[in-house]
Amino acid sequence: MTRDTNTPQHLDHLFSNSAARADRWRDMNAKAQAWAAAERSGKRHSGGEAVQQALAELRALESYFAYPGAHLLHALDDRLAEGDAIGVARLVLRMSGALLSGSYRYDNSEWEVADETSTDVPDRLPPGLGAGAQRRPYFETLFVNAMSPARSAAICQEIRQLRRAEDGLVYEPVLVGTFEDAVLATILNGKIEAVVIYDGVPFGSKHDTPVLRDFLTVYQHMEPSAGETQEAGLKLARFIANIRPELDVYLLTDRNVEQLAGDPAASAIRRVFYEAEEPMEVHLNILEGVRDRQSTPHFDNLKLYASRPISTFHALPIARGKSIIKSNWIRDFGEFYGLNLFLAETSATTGGLDSMLEPTGNIKLAQEKFARAVGADHVFFVTNGTSTSNKMVYQAVTKPGDIVIVDRNCHKSHHYGMVLSGAQPLYVEAFPMTEYSMYGAVPLATIKRALLDLKAEGRLDKVSMITLTNCTFDGHIYNTRRVMAECLAIKPDLIFLWDEAWFGFARWSPFLRPRTAMGAAAALEQWRDDPAAMEEWNAQVKELGEDLDPKDPRVMERQLVPNPQTMRIRVYETDSVHKSMSSLRQGSIVAVRDEDYDHHISAFHEAVFIHASTSPNAQIIASLDVARRQMELEGYELVMRAIEVALAIRREVAKHPLISKYFSVLGADKMIPEAYRGSGFSDYMQPGMTWLTAVKALKDDEFCLDPTRLTLVCGTAGFDGTTFKNLLASKYNIQLNKTSRNSALLQSNINNTRSDVAALIKVLLEISQDIEARLKSEGEEGRMAFAAKVKSLMEDVPSLPNFSSFHDGYRDNPASTTSEGNMRTAFFAAYNEDECEYLPLTSPKLDERLANGPELVSANFVIPYPPGFPIMVPGQIIDAGTIEFMRKLDVKEIHGYQAARGIKLIQPSAIGKKGGTK
Ligand SMILES: *Cc1c(COP(=O)(O)O)cnc(C)c1O
Repeated sequence: MTRDTNTPQHLDHLFSNSAARADRWRDMNAKAQAWAAAERSGKRHSGGEAVQQALAELRALESYFAYPGAHLLHALDDRLAEGDAIGVARLVLRMSGALLSGSYRYDNSEWEVADETSTDVPDRLPPGLGAGAQRRPYFETLFVNAMSPARSAAICQEIRQLRRAEDGLVYEPVLVGTFEDAVLATILNGKIEAVVIYDGVPFGSKHDTPVLRDFLTVYQHMEPSAGETQEAGLKLARFIANIRPELDVYLLTDRNVEQLAGDPAASAIRRVFYEAEEPMEVHLNILEGVRDRQSTPHFDNLKLYASRPISTFHALPIARGKSIIKSNWIRDFGEFYGLNLFLAETSATTGGLDSMLEPTGNIKLAQEKFARAVGADHVFFVTNGTSTSNKMVYQAVTKPGDIVIVDRNCHKSHHYGMVLSGAQPLYVEAFPMTEYSMYGAVPLATIKRALLDLKAEGRLDKVSMITLTNCTFDGHIYNTRRVMAECLAIKPDLIFLWDEAWFGFARWSPFLRPRTAMGAAAALEQWRDDPAAMEEWNAQVKELGEDLDPKDPRVMERQLVPNPQTMRIRVYETDSVHKSMSSLRQGSIVAVRDEDYDHHISAFHEAVFIHASTSPNAQIIASLDVARRQMELEGYELVMRAIEVALAIRREVAKHPLISKYFSVLGADKMIPEAYRGSGFSDYMQPGMTWLTAVKALKDDEFCLDPTRLTLVCGTAGFDGTTFKNLLASKYNIQLNKTSRNSALLQSNINNTRSDVAALIKVLLEISQDIEARLKSEGEEGRMAFAAKVKSLMEDVPSLPNFSSFHDGYRDNPASTTSEGNMRTAFFAAYNEDECEYLPLTSPKLDERLANGPELVSANFVIPYPPGFPIMVPGQIIDAGTIEFMRKLDVKEIHGYQAARGIKLIQPSAIGKKGGTK
């Protein structure tokens, strides 16, 4: 195999490629302009070589993109060969400009070599639709075909000839000739929406891609064996589906098409064609596949509705906007939002519109498309945020007396969900990160222990669900698949509710997807279908027996395997679409992948009826539809960029000499104890950390860190989290939401670009400079005060109180070793004000009761922000640790606590009375 020695070394360093490509183009442009400037001023200059060098570094990468493409690069080569500095500069400037602005997607002239009339110009717009014509969405289609390079230009031209004026979309072909190149193109080029594979492609790329090769051979067991080219088509299709499942993959083969299409492995393929088939058929399929993702049934219909003349006699005055645009007093409301908002407002559910509560038309279709996009069986749209999505799940799948194992730090909607359903929480604790005043995630061992303890007491049948937050606010991602597998080994029909309020975007990253609930559910199903699963199970039976003994220490030590024949896959995932995708606020979904969903259908519909408004907002629903469209078409590229942005922030903060003196972004090594990082991964920014190690960590480690969540330590700059947050907001117009005592959470999302990185770094630099200047002017005294402040913020941190226990009066089994309690009863007991009492935090009586009893029992939820989770729940015994924490707490916002009256307690005489106000 020949190696292209000019290949850039980092072709397969995949975490930062699009930024790296843009940088290389900027760099080449700078060199070309310098050369031209030297030429103009008559200086001798070796600029030509510098541009050659830059181009050589780009060339391999460019083979995976349609623009600028072989034609323009060829013209550049010609000019370089002629030593035409001015011509080179002009061409490079145009190409890099078109790339960075994206104008090549709609401006035909960007594809032309200006001073020539060539027939080889890609005919991107059909005759009659020149420049200025309406922009048609543009994408690229990957053709994988072992043709000679000489043929490829002709093939591209043939593909372009297929375009018709009525296509509505336009694509450019990208041609590659090997398995590896196809994988690289899929990973690197986010504009690719469809892949056409001609069966029988060879394996190895001519470019040097050691990391990719390791990845393919070591982790995916893809051997570059020569005899296998026939199988390569199917393998490649499956592989591409693993990276970007949203892409449409087509296979052209001369083998028996009917038989191939029936092969279960062909599920990754949208259509199989006989190779001699009409190219037009392939073309039409490519367009139809993309159009299917592009179509937004609810939003499309709403636009149609808004454009029709309709009189309304339903109770919704703002519909059609007349009451607004004719008003003397509120016309600015209409002007601000635009008329369409009101034309699209309706409470009708007929006449082409659909009902959110009982969808049968376009909302149903929109939900089905969303389900496909996230890999679920069903998706429910929710217009009240994930707060409601979570409550719906509790309502639908748990009932009074059920035990739910739940992270105590979870969002308050879970606690309230259990008050509503009557399920009893068995709180489990996340590992603490005391020095930053926050929690991590719940170790699997803790969850297994809870299940095994219940089993030992013969009450395993009471546990219906496990609820965890994935990822946590601060970015801890569970090994969702392993958690579910090991828990199912103990109880095979457990339901999992993964609160992925922040994590919806992860579906569109091949690195993060396996750690989403839906991604893990798919992987579990795949595992179960493999005969090797039964072997793993049998091996475990030999070692531990069929019925696990909860007292056997090996059960805790071993990675448990569920019984493939009895396990059920019952997974619920809730996403705040508005938190990580382009939906209006409150747009949320419940995604369901539950094999026993039919047990819950009617309960689920009841839950919708209980929680959903009867006046759902059509715009929120439309935005869910649109958010899905965007993610299915450009989510991959956008998420990759969000990750790049986050990594760039980490890098810039770490390497800047002044900023790093006062600030730091916590890496995985600081956020996750070593014991949970089995791969040895320490952090994305660690020197020598390769992409492969990161992939391995993402695959195997118990916890990993979402790169887009950046915990910025500001205590070392003398700021507590809240002060720092307010400073950023008031002085620099930078908003963020979560803080801890000594840190602030920054996050990148699909909205961020690299200029945001520059802006943030500039602000951090300014703040650092201010500190420097202040310390200089204040002298020794100032420095002492600063050091004391930093010490107080960084070292004198109150330890976070663990959940104590429920009072025996609120426990069905006071003697049991497990801690679940009847929170609902305690919650309603507090409705009898005369059976409650209040004790101020300063009251000596509080200490007296802590020391000598009777026990203090909380009457309600007390939720300080930050940290934002209840440090007291109804029925909980308040211990000294909690009081101490409350006393040290210096935050202003504490829900459920009025400083003037004190902590609300259930009077000892009232405790345990069943009922209260019902
Ligand atoms: C924000 C959040 C919720 C609630 O979602 P909304 O869409 O704001 O109602 C639930 N769980 C977690 C973990 C959250 O961060």
